[in-house]
Amino acid sequence: MNKAIFLDRDGTINVDCGYVYRVEDLALLPGAAEAMKMFQERGFLLIVITNQSGVGRGYFTMDDVAVFNHALDEELARHGVKIDDYFICPHGPEDGCECRKPLPYLVQKAIEKYDIDANESYMFGDKKSDVECGESAGVKSYRITAENSLLDWAERVLK
Ligand SMILES: [Mg+2]
Ligand SMILES: [Zn+2]
Repeated sequence: MNKAIFLDRDGTINVDCGYVYRVEDLALLPGAAEAMKMFQERGFLLIVITNQSGVGRGYFTMDDVAVFNHALDEELARHGVKIDDYFICPHGPEDGCECRKPLPYLVQKAIEKYDIDANESYMFGDKKSDVECGESAGVKSYRITAENSLLDWAERVLK
C-alpha cells in the first residue's frame, strides 16, 4: 500500500488571492515546495484535492484550471517536486454535488486509485472544510494557518 499527503491547493501550496486561475497570480507560499519535497523524499504521494467553484460559477473553465495546474507543476519542478495527481471539484456550493469538500469523496477516490493506506496519510489545508474532508476519509488532517505553515507541519509530522 501507498501513503499520501493530500493537499488543498489555494492557500496551502500557492497564495489564495480569491478564485485563482490566472497564471500570473501563481505564487508559491513560503516553504510549501520545501515541505512537499520533504514529504516526497519520505515516500509519500502528493495528491491535490481542490474545490474550484469558480468553474461552476462561470468565472473560468476547467481548461483554465488545467493551464494553472500545469504552471504550478512547472514551478514545483524547479524545486524537484512532482504532484502525482489532482482531484478537482468544479461545482458550486448550490450544485449539490458529491465531490465538493468537506465531503470526503475525492480523497476516497484517490485512496482507491492509488491503493493508499489512510492511516499512514495526512491531509493539509487552510480551511475547516479541508480538515473535515480529510477526517471524514479517515486521514489525519491539519490546518495551515499564519502560525502553522505546510513546512511547520512537515517538520512536526516527519520528526
Ligand atoms: Mg484553500
Ligand atoms: Zn463537486
